[in-house]
Amino acid sequence: MADFIIIGAGIGGLATAHALLKLGHAVRVYEAAAELRAVGAGVVLGANAMRALHELDLHDAVAVLGASVCQLQLLDQQGRLLQTADTTDFTRRLGFENIGIHRADLQRALLAGLPPGTVQLGKAFERYEETPTGVRAHFADGSQAHAAALIGADGLNSRVRRQLLPAAAPRYAGYTCWRAVVEAGALGLPAGESAETWGAAGRRFGYVPVGGGRVYWFACLNSPAPRSPKYQAYRVADLQREFAGFHAPVPELLALTHNDGLLWNDILDLPPLPHFARGPVLLLGDAAHATTPNMGQGAGMAIEDAAVLARCLRASPTNVWAAFNSFEQRRRARTARIVRTSWQLGRVGQLESPLLTGIRNTVMRLLPAAVSRSQMAWLYEEL
Ligand SMILES: Cc1cc2nc3c(=O)[nH]c(=O)nc-3n(C[C@H](O)[C@H](O)[C@H](O)COP(=O)(O)OP(=O)(O)OC[C@H]3O[C@@H](n4cnc5c(N)ncnc54)[C@H](O)[C@@H]3O)c2cc1C
Repeated sequence: MADFIIIGAGIGGLATAHALLKLGHAVRVYEAAAELRAVGAGVVLGANAMRALHELDLHDAVAVLGASVCQLQLLDQQGRLLQTADTTDFTRRLGFENIGIHRADLQRALLAGLPPGTVQLGKAFERYEETPTGVRAHFADGSQAHAAALIGADGLNSRVRRQLLPAAAPRYAGYTCWRAVVEAGALGLPAGESAETWGAAGRRFGYVPVGGGRVYWFACLNSPAPRSPKYQAYRVADLQREFAGFHAPVPELLALTHNDGLLWNDILDLPPLPHFARGPVLLLGDAAHATTPNMGQGAGMAIEDAAVLARCLRASPTNVWAAFNSFEQRRRARTARIVRTSWQLGRVGQLESPLLTGIRNTVMRLLPAAVSRSQMAWLYEEL
C-alpha cells in the first residue's frame, strides 16, 4: 500500500482521503486554514455525486444533513415558468436523489468519518519537489512532509497547480455573486423545489433548500471587472434595490438575510487543463477543473473525482503513477464538458439586452422537455 499527501481539506480533499483510506492506503491531509469554520453557503449535490458518495460509503452520512431537490424551475422576473427540470425519473432509475446541503455541513460530515489526526490544520503548502521515492511537500511554517504521491486538492487558486502547470490561470466570468443561507421555514416553500430566475439586465436569482428549514440563495449581477469596490460595499439593502420587482419569494428571502450572513464572490472558472497528472502529483476538484456554479456541479465533480480515483487505484494497485494517468484519461473529457456547458449557460443567463433576453426566454419556454432530460442523462448517468 502507498502513502499519500493531500493538500487541502475542502470537499475534494476530504472525500479523497476517505477513498484512499478505504483502499488501505496511508493518508495525511494538510490544510492552510487554522480552523475549519462553518463558512460558505449552500451546494447542490446531483444524483451523480450522491452515487459517488455511495461508492465511498458516505451517502447516508451526507444525505441526512441535506434536503432532497427534485424540481428545478426556471422562471422569468415575473415568476412565469420558462422551463422545469424534474429529476424524479432519474432518482427512481438510479436510486439516488439530488440534494441541497450547506457546504459547512457537507465538510463536517466528511471530516467526521476520518480517523483523528488525518487532517493537519494551519499547514499552508508552498511547493513540492520530486525525490527518488516520491515527493516532498514544503509548507509556509518551514516544515516538510514526504510521501509516495501528492494530490493537489487546494481549490481554484491551487499552488500545486501553479507549480505543475504554471501557464494555467482562472478566468473571470463577467459576473459577481452574493450568497446566503437563511432560516426560511416560515415561508412555506414547496418541499423538493428549487428555482432560478433569469431577470432583466443580467440579474439572476436562485434558491435551493438545504435542510432543517434553511434555504440557500444566490444573486448574480454583471460586473465588467472583478473585485469591484462598489459591489464589495453592497449590503442586503443594495440587493433589495437591485432585485426590487422580482417575484416571490425573492424579496422575502432577501428580507430574511442579515448583513453578516452575506457572502460575496466574483465568479471564476478554470479553462480546461491539458493534464491533471504528472508523475507522483495529481490535481483534483477545483484545482483541476473549477467551474462556474451554473450547473451546480463544482462540489459534485470533486466527489466524483474521489470515487473515480479509487476505481483507478483498484485497477492499478501497485502503480500509483499509472492510476493517476488513468484518472486523467477518465476525468478530463467529462469535467471539461461540464466547465464549458456551465460557462455557456452563465453567458445566456446573464444576458442584458432586452431583445436578446426576450428571444432567450421564448426559446427556453419552447424547449422540449426531452432536451433537459438528455442534459440530465449525461450529467447523472455517465460517471
Ligand atoms: C471557504 C469556502 C467556502 C465555499 N463556499 C461555497 C459555497 O457557498 N457554495 C459553493 O457552491 N461553493 C463554495 N465553495 C467552493 C466549493 O466548495 C468548491 O467549488 C467545491 O466543493 C470543490 O471542492 P474542492 O475541494 O476542490 O475545493 P475547495 O472546497 O475550495 O477546497 C480547497 C481547500 O484547500 C485549501 N487550500 C487552499 N490553498 C492551500 C494551500 N496552499 N495549502 C493548504 N491548503 C490550501 C483551502 O483552504 C480549502 O480548504 C467554497 C470554498 C471554500 C474554500
